[in-house]
Amino acid sequence: HKYSAEDIKKMTVDENVEFICLMFTDINGIIKNVEVPVSQIDKVLANKITFDGSSIDGFTRIEESDMLLHPDLSTWLVFPWGSEHGKVARLICDIYTTNGEPFAGDPRVNLQRIVKKMHGMGYTNFNIGPEPEFFLFNTDDKGQPTLQLNDDGSYFDFSPVDLGENVRKDIVLKLEKMGFEVEASHHEVAPGQQEIDFKYENALSAADSIQTFKLVVKTIAKENGMYATFMPKPLQGINGSGMHINMSLFNGDENIFGDSNDMLSDVAKQFMSGILTHARALTAINNPTVNSYKRLVPGFEAPTYIAWSSKNRSPLIRVPAAKGKSKRFEMRSVDPTTNPYLAIACILDAGLDGIKNNYDLMPEVKENIYEMSEDKRREEGIVDLPSTLHNSLKALRKDEFVQESLGKGLTNSFFAAKNEEWARYQQTVSQWERDTYMPLY
Ligand code: GLU
Ligand code: MG
Ligand code: MG
Repeated sequence: HKYSAEDIKKMTVDENVEFICLMFTDINGIIKNVEVPVSQIDKVLANKITFDGSSIDGFTRIEESDMLLHPDLSTWLVFPWGSEHGKVARLICDIYTTNGEPFAGDPRVNLQRIVKKMHGMGYTNFNIGPEPEFFLFNTDDKGQPTLQLNDDGSYFDFSPVDLGENVRKDIVLKLEKMGFEVEASHHEVAPGQQEIDFKYENALSAADSIQTFKLVVKTIAKENGMYATFMPKPLQGINGSGMHINMSLFNGDENIFGDSNDMLSDVAKQFMSGILTHARALTAINNPTVNSYKRLVPGFEAPTYIAWSSKNRSPLIRVPAAKGKSKRFEMRSVDPTTNPYLAIACILDAGLDGIKNNYDLMPEVKENIYEMSEDKRREEGIVDLPSTLHNSLKALRKDEFVQESLGKGLTNSFFAAKNEEWARYQQTVSQWERDTYMPLY
């Protein structure tokens, strides 16, 4: 919705809003929130609310730490849950420096930079349909998450109706109240695992929606005495949680990823080739945690190889059988720990690079790659995805194009945060190691 400052002021009164959450996202994809009482509304609308950037990961700048919050009025939304202190509304913000410049280190500002680049190439919309998956765990009597799942249901299971099912329905209803268009929701393959898909939106709105979605899921789960997690692989031996990113490029009302026969257009193929070319570096952004790589292993419907297919689910990119406006492909590696602003900016820029350089698209893979021999894979030019955070960071280091998609500031903060995370993990001695090595050595 396009709202004016006057509209916003009127809505705070009409809806009895007491507090306004000014939301933004740090480099790790974590939602940050500056909450102000509604008495501050004029200051909010004049872009005059400041916060101390030096206390937030990825925002540190030595010369100035004060940052300004510029709310995007189109993101106005009243949370559909009660608070004893009155209703809470939120606005998603861009971060500006006190000189009045958009701050290049803000992931949302950076995504808008890449979208502008796309406009410059003549395309109007990059549409994204995300498919986030998550687990619901039971909590103990202190409200802390346990590792107990509340059901043993699986894909598209119908009966019996369990608690997870009810929580999911509650989430869907609340999302619809907030203006989300939920296309589908279902139990996923693993016990305790759920998926909710929402209708495609332009790049920026989709990233905003993903962030809001995670907040809603966690809040509603908690209200129901459960704990929702988007951690990619909370339990070994069963499927992990991904967040497939369906994408298409539009010119006005026309989806240019399809041709007149509802096959992928040349532009779509070039775009895809750009993604495949930069796939190893993109993995660092799309799968940014140590745990992300415990999901990217064979046998659990998550991709491990750089390839595409319309036939099966083992490769990085799958082309669903869809037509017309829905013609699209999905990138299957992405998981919900990604910062969606960074992920969508980098995927879009890689795709635009494919169009610009007219890269050749590798042939489609028709067999299950998990079952192919190594020789056969080599023959077909199928390369694997990085197998650890360390390896994907190395791939990002080598890919100057993807570093450009982030810009210098974000690239530096990303490496700083992730190198530190990897070092901490590498120094951790796990129970697996003691169990395996102590009896032997
Ligand atoms: N849960 C699977 C994953 O880790 C995806 C299952 C599906 O195809 O939706 O990516
Ligand atoms: Mg799924
Ligand atoms: Mg999918």
